[in-house]
Amino acid sequence: MTDDNHVLTPVLTKRWLSPNSWTRHTYEQLEGYTALPKALKAHPDQLIELVKASGLRGRGGAGFPTGLKWSFIPQGDGKPHYLVINADEGEPGTCKDIPLMMADPHSLIEGCIITSYAIRANFCAIYVRGEVLHCIRRLNAAVQEAYAAGYLGKNILGTGFDLDLVIHAGAGAYICGEETALLDSLEGRRGQPRLKPPFPATAGLYASPTVVNNVETIASVPYIVNGGSDWFRAMGREKSPGPKIFSLSGHVEKPGQYEAPMGITLRELLDMAGGMKDGIPLKFWTPGGSSTPMFTAEHLDVPLDFEGCAQAGSMLGTTALQIFNETVSVPWAVMKWTEFYKHESCGKCTPCREGTFWLTQILQRMVRGEGSPSDIETLLDICDNILGRSFCALGDGATSPITSAIKYFKHEFLELCQQNAAAQPELAGASS
Ligand code: NAD
Ligand code: SF4
Repeated sequence: MTDDNHVLTPVLTKRWLSPNSWTRHTYEQLEGYTALPKALKAHPDQLIELVKASGLRGRGGAGFPTGLKWSFIPQGDGKPHYLVINADEGEPGTCKDIPLMMADPHSLIEGCIITSYAIRANFCAIYVRGEVLHCIRRLNAAVQEAYAAGYLGKNILGTGFDLDLVIHAGAGAYICGEETALLDSLEGRRGQPRLKPPFPATAGLYASPTVVNNVETIASVPYIVNGGSDWFRAMGREKSPGPKIFSLSGHVEKPGQYEAPMGITLRELLDMAGGMKDGIPLKFWTPGGSSTPMFTAEHLDVPLDFEGCAQAGSMLGTTALQIFNETVSVPWAVMKWTEFYKHESCGKCTPCREGTFWLTQILQRMVRGEGSPSDIETLLDICDNILGRSFCALGDGATSPITSAIKYFKHEFLELCQQNAAAQPELAGASS
């Protein structure tokens, strides 16, 4: 629950500091697997309505209403239904799902069982990014424990409901976090985005109705079953209710994961995290990973929820708050992010494949001190040709750091060019 100071009794992270928090024993000692029998006694449609009423929105970045997504799964269609958990956490700065799976894997597993029952699925896959072997091992151990206890497999808790759950390791490609590329990868193909629509809800894994949800989203479900929709809605904001895990990285005294209600501000989160490292003032930050337009010190009081961030000109995204102090060059940081997007572009569509290449070339040239002021216009022109013209969200996301950096810190790009012009007199005329 919350009070006026946005303090929250931990929900999603409440077991994280308990000894052996990842074991079934600890999970059960601390109310784990108590939502499951209640859920299995309810009609599946009641669960969908409950999640709709709770207002839970996707925690992977886009914030799509979870109950609504579940309700899109056609019933009586004669096809198998699938639940796929997107655990391919790859957005720069994002570190909430992997810590959740490491500390409390059974909350995700219990959420998977309840969700599968609600959407009438008998198969669930958790797609984890391949680099986090330790996490894959921990999940596999937890799945084995759940099978041994009769929470997975045939006739779960004697209800007649069957569910198999597998952990699938990806191969470490950022694009496989895009839900349709993830599905292609899960089917054994090269991970590249599919055309949407059709959305996975109607044609997903093996062209069958599939719910693809983020780890934190599904780990929230057992709490909603136990606490009810009003309890969930009492936290956070009207259109963005519930608790949320915010990951803080960079120049903060105590980087890490902080659970707080939706709508908390960076100012409040910094208080929780011990403030800026060594007291050096904040310069810029991302609210939800590098794909979300950056904010500055002027935005310390923006409510961190879907509406608040949008109204302030950015997006909540993955709630990966990357914090940079005054010592960091904005063009340099933007160049590093752009190099990442160029490397991870899957190459399927021209605006992103070619655009991220040219953006990287220009930014590298500027940071080397070889740019000219006209490069700023060229960067914006390329972004304009990527945004809204790319096949998937990666292309659009690649433009966010650049356009927002030029909006707030154009003078830093110009300074780089002016240093160059001063060093090369023939360019001086171009900058005047
Ligand atoms: P999206 O808005 O296209 O879709 C969001 C979800 O809603 C999807 O599951 C989609 O299938 C569903 N959906 C949307 N419209 C629908 C409809 N009409 N019918 C049925 N289902 C519908 O967003 P997206 O491209 O899936 O994701 C973009 C987000 O991903 C960005 O906001 C970014 O923050 C985030 N992201 C996260 C990570 C990470 O590591 N977690 C990495 C990169 C990007
Ligand atoms: Fe691939 Fe980039 Fe096009 Fe997405 S936007 S399909 S990552 S090339």
